[in-house]
Amino acid sequence: MNLNALTIHQAQDLLRRGEISSLQLTEAVLAQIESLDESIHAFVTVTAAEARAQAQAADARLAQDGVAAPPLLGIPAAIKDVVSTKGVRTTCSSRMLEDYVPPYDATVMEKLNAQGIVLVGKTNMDEFAMGSSTEHSAFFTTRNPWDRERVPGGSSGGSAAAVAADQAIFALGSDTGGSIRQPAALCGVVGMKPTYGRVSRYGLVAFASSLDQIGPFTKDVTDCAIVLEAICGHDPRDATSAPNPVPNWPEALKQDVRGLRLGVPREYFGAGIDPEVEQAVRTAIDQLAGLGVAVEDVSLPHTDHALATYYIIAPAEASANLARYDGIRYGYAAQDAETMWDAYSRTRGQGFGSEVKRRILVGTHALSSGYYDAYYLKAQKVRTLIAADFQEAFERVDAIVCPTSATVAFKIGERIDDPISMYLSDLYTLPGNVAGLPGVSQPCGLVQGLPVGLQFIGKPYDESTLLRLAYAYEQVSGKSYKPALSQGAPH
Ligand code: GLN
Repeated sequence: MNLNALTIHQAQDLLRRGEISSLQLTEAVLAQIESLDESIHAFVTVTAAEARAQAQAADARLAQDGVAAPPLLGIPAAIKDVVSTKGVRTTCSSRMLEDYVPPYDATVMEKLNAQGIVLVGKTNMDEFAMGSSTEHSAFFTTRNPWDRERVPGGSSGGSAAAVAADQAIFALGSDTGGSIRQPAALCGVVGMKPTYGRVSRYGLVAFASSLDQIGPFTKDVTDCAIVLEAICGHDPRDATSAPNPVPNWPEALKQDVRGLRLGVPREYFGAGIDPEVEQAVRTAIDQLAGLGVAVEDVSLPHTDHALATYYIIAPAEASANLARYDGIRYGYAAQDAETMWDAYSRTRGQGFGSEVKRRILVGTHALSSGYYDAYYLKAQKVRTLIAADFQEAFERVDAIVCPTSATVAFKIGERIDDPISMYLSDLYTLPGNVAGLPGVSQPCGLVQGLPVGLQFIGKPYDESTLLRLAYAYEQVSGKSYKPALSQGAPH
């Protein structure tokens, strides 16, 4: 077996028993990046030399700690290029931050480094995490390992593709409206957005601060629980970080699901869903019912308004967050300006791509005097109604089950000229962000040879139930999803 195809828990076992070394594992992962990334383009930066040094340090620590080693010690990981990594370029796939090297680590990196992970590189994304395909990266488009003419989803497309193509054992992404779950679905891997507040946002470059959350991409559900446990926990440096205790998720996921109640939201199976995607999801739900899970229909009546609500709140917050890129303190600075205003407008005009500019314009408009009440305030009120829909449903059921995305991976170029059709890619994921709820996506079948995503959405801080359901489904379906990884022509 190729070592780079291992899951975390498989690798962990072999590492602890001394049957493989972290350096061997790391070399296998780097070799995979070397041979495939010419045609996949998952990585903005590959940190091969640093990775080898970290792997050697991990091997020394493994020799000492043995079975007491932390779960992620010596495991090669890829990190979305929106998470600050001390000394390693963090670009957000934007010209604005093309040469930015953070002087500090995000809290999630501190946590992963304390366990001794091996950072193999930083992954491509839609610029500042705005998009659903990675086509909005200022550098290049990431290809879907299942079909390189198709998008991997986004905005964390590089992380999803890297895990699907065994170019990392796991990855981190960020999810503001679906950016972990949607690419996980389109690339056939497991991806989780934790409850808002679970994971510290300190060091995550801000897009929409009331929605952003960091989470894992993994090859199976057990790995998802392992990474989740590693990155969660209260952080005084993020005022929205929750003090809730972190459960032992790798243990919790094995609990029987018999008697759990699952709600199927009527509104998530309406117009626009690919009938074959619907069929795959319904088959998965039937299999869960076969395990003794009670399934019933629920209604989330304000679903229709989620997209409009999100596309006021997220751009409004983005317009405020992105005001800091003024060419003065850090990031790209236009050199040929004559006045201060000229410097601002040239820096921002040249440094940001068109989707980012669109969001800043929409957000600034929505917040401006005279329009604030009509747009922003109204969106906040509708946000409360969307959250209340879920709350009501959760009085009857323990979790919601639905598709992650209405379609399988679409073709590169297919939606890029039509922002609305791109925005519609996140119809089933963004209500969860608007309501602050945890969600997980896992593969549940293939349609035309491409993976379909099954999503569970849970109560606040109830990731345990989601992981139990996902694990139970993974066991009963008995399938694993791997693309055929030919080298492919360079793109
Ligand atoms: N596709 C959505 C957007 O463009 C969500 C992105 C995300 O979750 N970061 O805003």
